Formats: sequence, structure tokens, C-alpha cells
Amino acid sequence: MIDLHTHSTASDGTDSPARLVEVAALAGIKTLAITDHDTTSGWAEAAESAGRFQIGLVRGAEISAVARTTGWGTGVHLLAYLYDPTHPDLVAETERTRDDRTSRARRMVALLGEDYPITWDDLLAQTQPGTTIGRPHIADALVAAGVVRDRDEAFATMLRTGTRYYVGHYAPDAVATVKAVRAAGGVPVFAHPGADARGRVVPDSTIEELAAAGLAGLEVDHRDHTPDTRRRLRDIAKSLELLVTGSSDFHGSGKRNLIGENTTEPEVLEAIVEQGTLEVLR
Ligand code: AMP
Ligand code: FE
Ligand code: FE
Ligand code: ZN
Repeated sequence: MIDLHTHSTASDGTDSPARLVEVAALAGIKTLAITDHDTTSGWAEAAESAGRFQIGLVRGAEISAVARTTGWGTGVHLLAYLYDPTHPDLVAETERTRDDRTSRARRMVALLGEDYPITWDDLLAQTQPGTTIGRPHIADALVAAGVVRDRDEAFATMLRTGTRYYVGHYAPDAVATVKAVRAAGGVPVFAHPGADARGRVVPDSTIEELAAAGLAGLEVDHRDHTPDTRRRLRDIAKSLELLVTGSSDFHGSGKRNLIGENTTEPEVLEAIVEQGTLEVLR
């Protein structure tokens, strides 16, 4: 079993990078990708754990970006695998995103603090140094304050995009990000491109534009895609000669997604490894 999209406490997962690898090994995963939002800070700890649990580790990240093919920008997530984590463009852009995610969370917590008993310290209590801060951590602070039951309830109510508490954050252009990932020797895969329950998704023309910029694949098998969406995306991947992946998008206990619930074929992993500049660690 190959699972190429998971999160640790380096972003909004609930398991430490070491524990994430252990959980994957116990579930029978043979190759795991760690793909925290906008950071590589979990790589070293995960690598050490991969050796201990005899599991293949694909080092990656899920990079926040904005597709501007349409008049309005649409937020997209790009999985980036096996790239040089010191590449200046990617380092600068992900750092800028993380910084703005922190400012944005400060603004959201201040707005929420007008109506609910939460403060910035309550949010910090839900993170560690180096964590990429996201709405899930604000949800955790609301849970700790007894305002909501779980992350799901927070996302269904006050944290939903468009509420009076919602604030957006900086993210780099998607075409530029695909090119930067390639320049860093990495392999860019479009994460959950058809997850329309979360918000607006991009038109096919954007996928074509990203493919022309060097996109390697589409994450087709993902919990947030209906059977119809999967069929449509598989057709697009075929016509654009893109790889097709499937992954869990596991976030520990922070989301319903179970590790290994969607998986990627070995031939697809081989193609990714062939294109990437880093090795799969063991
Ligand atoms: P942000 O990137 O800070 O805007 O927050 C979006 C993140 O929240 C995504 O990475 C999702 O994994 C996570 N998320 C979205 N909906 C939910 C939910 N219902 N429960 C838990 N996490 C969620
Ligand atoms: Fe997430
Ligand atoms: Fe995502
Ligand atoms: Zn994810």
C-alpha cells in the first residue's frame, strides 16, 4: 500500500512526524509521503522514524497556491514530492505563506474573541514551534474552550469560508509554483482538484495550463471526490498524459480520513521517484 498525502503536527495533523510514520507502518503502508502544508519541518523526524519502522518515506509538502486562470483567484493545493528543500524560490514563497498564515490566524482569533472565549495564547497552546498554522488549530482552540465539539463542527459553523470571522492568506501563483517545484527537482501533483464541497474548484482549462507548466499528476482517488468527479479527472489525466494518484489526506484524529483509505499504484510511484531529485528514504 502506497499513501502519498498525509499530515503531521508540522501542520494540521495530530500525530508527530515520528508517530505518523509509526501509524502508517502499523496500518500496513509500505511507502508513505509526509506532505505538511507549506513546510518541510517534519522531514527529519519522519526520516528517522522511517528507518526504525522499515517503511519507505517520500519527502514532500502540500503547497498552498492560487490559480488565476479565472477572473477570481481560486485556492489550490499542490503536492510537491522529492524536491530540494533549500531551493530559494520555494523557501521564500512557503516562508511568506507561513508568515501570512500566522497573521491571518491572529486576525481570525481576534474576530472570534469578540464573541467567544478564545485568545492568541489559546491558539498557541494548540501548536508547536514551527507548525504551519491553519484553521484546524483555531478549531482546536475553540474545542478546548468548549465552544464546539470538534474540528468538523467548527468548520461547519464559524470557520467556514465566508463567515464574518474568515480571513484569507497569501499564497503564490499556481503556475509559478509548478515551475518552482520542477526547478527544485520536485514532482508537482495537483491535490484534490475536484473537491467542490470545500469551495470553488478550477475549470479544466486551469488543469491544462498547469500541465503545460510541468504538472506531473492529478490526485484522483481522494475522499472529497465523487465517483463522477473521479471519472472526469481520470479522463483529463489520460488526455493530458498526467499521472493518477490516490491518497488518504490523513490528519490523525483531526479529520475522518483514515490512513491508506485511498492508495497509489506502484508504477505511478516509480514514475514519481524517477522524476524526483531526492531518494525514497528507508
Ligand atoms: P486553512 O488552510 O487554514 O484555510 O484550513 C484548511 C485546512 O483545514 C485544510 O488543510 C483541511 O485539511 C482542513 N479542514 C477542512 N475542513 C475540515 C474539517 N471539516 N475538519 C477538519 N479539518 C478540516
Ligand atoms: Fe490540512
Ligand atoms: Fe489539501
Ligand atoms: Zn492535505
